[in-house]
Parts: sequence; structure tokens; C-alpha cells
Amino acid sequence: MVTTVEAASHAARFLEQPKRMLVDGAWVDSRHGRTLEVYDPALGEVIDHVPAGDAEDVDLAVAAARRAFEDSEWSRMTASDRGRIIWRVGDLILKHADELAEIESMDNGKPVSVARAADVPLAADLFHYMAGFATKIHGQTFPISVPYAPGAQFHAYTLKEPVGVVGQIVPWNFPLLMAAWKLGPALATGCTVVLKPAEQTPLSALRLAELMLEAGLPNGVLNVITGFGETAGAALAGHPGVDKVAFTGSTEVGKLIVKAAANDLKRVTIELGGKSPNVVFADADLETAIPGAANAIFFNHGQCCAAGSRLYIEQNVYDEVLAGVSDYAEKIKLGRGLDPDTEMGPLVSVEQLERVTGFLEAGEREGVRTVTGGKQVGEHGYFVAPTVLDGAGPGNRVFDEEIFGPVVTAIPFSDTAEVAAAANETIYGLAAGIWTTDLTKAHRLIPQLKAGTVWVNTYNIFDAALPFGGYKQSGWGREMGEEVIHEYTETKSVCIGL
Ligand code: NDP
Repeated sequence: MVTTVEAASHAARFLEQPKRMLVDGAWVDSRHGRTLEVYDPALGEVIDHVPAGDAEDVDLAVAAARRAFEDSEWSRMTASDRGRIIWRVGDLILKHADELAEIESMDNGKPVSVARAADVPLAADLFHYMAGFATKIHGQTFPISVPYAPGAQFHAYTLKEPVGVVGQIVPWNFPLLMAAWKLGPALATGCTVVLKPAEQTPLSALRLAELMLEAGLPNGVLNVITGFGETAGAALAGHPGVDKVAFTGSTEVGKLIVKAAANDLKRVTIELGGKSPNVVFADADLETAIPGAANAIFFNHGQCCAAGSRLYIEQNVYDEVLAGVSDYAEKIKLGRGLDPDTEMGPLVSVEQLERVTGFLEAGEREGVRTVTGGKQVGEHGYFVAPTVLDGAGPGNRVFDEEIFGPVVTAIPFSDTAEVAAAANETIYGLAAGIWTTDLTKAHRLIPQLKAGTVWVNTYNIFDAALPFGGYKQSGWGREMGEEVIHEYTETKSVCIGL
């Protein structure tokens, strides 16, 4: 079999160069010289090394970001010039789309065709969308009345100011896209950033940083510290020089971030886990709903915070939909991400493989029926068969907990009231799906679902204009759209006596 570097023809130059972190515009090793290994999850082989940055490196990066925020070319730059740089980042991502797709595929394991069609263009689009916002961030004026100052006149208005130095911690499931979701609004608002990619997938963030410098981003505005969550991530989340932390990852670590940030009451936005209900009514167009429900869970190997992992099917079409989704699952072509025919790659890491197969074993012990899949595939790499489970319910781990793998549990229901209550029976509230041809039914159910996104007759549709985030323990705040701009700005009220 060809090695990863040979297979990744567009990314070969980047792969062969030594990897360093970006601090204050310079590419540096970690202060202690330690590195961490980067794996190709399809082969289980080490393909690269990146610096293992820790608290000392975070200190330097935060100091650089602070200098760039307080008094620099960046802080004095016009909104229009800032927007032009952000736009150029989008252009450069598109120019290097094949290379970025390969990097993403070999680092994360996802099919290169999916990275090229979804992750990379969505990342570019986010920068293009946010570039436009740079010139449209403004306050308001207010005709204030002030009852205790009769006859006085005032000019009152608000200013929207960047929140400051932002620590951004991103996960491994969409490494480039999650970095884009966070960097775009931070730069549009004039913040400066220290970014920590996940230890499993640090490569695309480093290539993106190169492109951002090429786009004209001044030194210190973006700093990238590669390293482990417990060291580099924790140091960033608790750093007194950081004004805001933006995190995407597990609910468990999200709670640690909140605790770390509580010390000096930093601003926090967190986008966390999910156990999203996907509801198929009997009146749905099953030709669309069946592949739609399968894609809702199997897209990105189920390593998707919004994955439709609880599939509620109306009783009288239960057998048909269960069989259809299982049939779809069995036809998915598993393989190495860099193989152009691959439809589903491996899970990202051996830890994730053990986690997902651990859930499957727990399901089996608890008497949950495996309709298809249910096991690891092959001897190399971290592949798990697309899996459909039947007969799970509250109290079963596969039903209650986020698995974050290609595993869906199917559950029958008999009416709308029952499914609305069941859908909300989770600590999470990230997303939900509804499949029906009855729009009245859909519109009545939408407000009952405690979820940040509801998809109707579609699933996994993301756009730079559409806010994304969770209710309940799925997080605080929203990414994307105009809403995210508020997460990166402070509002200053100004009142001038005339
Ligand atoms: P984590 O939440 O541990 O990782 C997300 C990010 O947080 C990574 O960059 C990680 O760094 C960092 N991190 C880890 N610990 C800390 C810490 N103490 N302080 C600051 N940052 C930290 O997710 P896992 O990789 O462990 O995956 C476990 C589960 O989390 C998955 O099975 C899934 O259920 C969920 N998850 C949810 C995601 C989502 O999109 N909502 C994305 C990824 C995972 P490092 O990787 O270096 O440890």
C-alpha cells in the first residue's frame, strides 16, 4: 500500500516540511522541545509530528495576541482593510482546496471527496461571509428621556467593540471548518486569537495559519499553539490575559472550560455534544426520508455533534424505515479517506474506536438488538461498521449517551405528543430532524423541540448565514450568522450631555 505522503499528492510539500507553531508571526518549536505524534487513522501509523506546546508557549502566544490587540497595525486598521484580508483568506482556501482536503482527509480519516465538497468550501464561505461583516458592526442611537433630568438634552449611543484576546479550542471532527467558524467572526470584529487545534488533527490549522499570513494578517493577530488539551488547552482556558474562550468539544470538557474561565469571569461560548432526535412520520416521502435519516447519522462517520443518533419512526412504517436505513448502512463503502471511492473512513483515533466499540458492547450486554453492523472492521486503522440498533430506550447507554460514531438507535412512536416528549428526554439540545409531508404537523412540532437547529425534510445543512448552537447542555451562544458577531463584541453605552 502506498504511504500517506505518497497518496497525498497536493499536500506533499506541506507534509514534508517540519511543523512549528505560530507565535507573533514566527514559526517556533515548543519551549521545551517536546512534540506529539500525528496519526493516519486509516493505517494507524504516525505520519507527522507537531510541537507539544504547553503553558509557557501559551503565555508567549497570549502576550503576542495582547500586543496585537492593544496597539498595532491591526488595532489601527480600518474595518474595510480588515474585511479585505478576511476575504483573501477565503480566496486562498479555495485556491488550495485540493491540498486542504487531502490534509483533512489523512489527518481526520474523512473521505477526501467529502472534505473537498463540504469542509473546505464551507470554511472558505465562512471567511467570505464574515469579511462582509467587518464593515457592518455598529451601535445604535437612542432618544433617551431621563425623568430625573427634566429639560436636559443628551446624545446617547452604543459602540460595539471587540471583546479582546480570544482563546479558541477546536475539536478533531471538522478541524478546518471549526477553526474557520471561530476565526472568521473573531477577525471580523477586530479581536486577536490564540488557537489550539485538537491533538489528533493539528495539521489543517497550521496550513490555514500559513494562508492567513499570506493573506496579509499582521503578526500576533493569529497565534496557533499545538498541544494537548490537559496542558495547552487548560492553560489557555484559564489564562488571565485571555478575555474570552470559545470552545467546541465534549460537554465534559466544556464544563472544565467554564470552571477555568470562572476565575476571572472571562466571556465563554461553548458548542458541545448532542443526542439529536430525528423524527420520521408515516406520511413522509420515505424515498427521501430513508437515505436522509441514514445520512443524518452516518455523515462524517457519526462524529458530528448534530448527528441524528436517535431515530424516532412512526409505528406503522417502523419496519420499512428500519430495513431501509439498515440496507443503506450495509452499502456504505468503507475505506481510506484518500481513496476517491471511499464513502466512510475510519474513526479519528484509537481512543474513539475503543469508545464507540465500548458502547456497542454495552448495548449487547443490555439486550439491545443489532440490526446491522455493531463491530470493528479490519485489522488496521480504526474502522467501525455503520450500525443500526433496535430496542434501546432510557437506561441503555447507547440511548442515553452521545456515542460520536456511526451508530443509530431506532425507536418506534405512535403520535406527535409522544414523540415531542421523547425527543426532549435528553440533557442535550443541539439539533433535531422532522420528516413529514404535513407542514402543519411540522410547524406544530418545531416550537416543542428544545434544540438550537431543526431541520425539516433535510438534515445536516449548515451555512455561514445560519446561526448554530445548542439549548441545554449542548452549549452557550451561537456560531455563524449575525448572532456570532455579538459573541465577539462588547457593547459600550455612551451618553453625552449637550
Ligand atoms: P474533547 O472535548 O476532549 O476535545 C475538544 C478540544 O478540547 C480539543 O482541542 C482538546 O484538546 C481540548 N481539551 C481537552 N481537554 C481540555 C482541557 N482540560 N482544557 C482545555 N481544552 C481541553 O473531546 P475528545 O477528543 O476527548 O472526544 C470525546 C468526546 O467528545 C467525543 O466522543 C464526543 O462525544 C465529544 N466531542 C464533541 C465534539 C463536538 O463537535 N461537539 C467534537 C469532539 C468531541 P486535545 O484533543 O489535545 O485533548
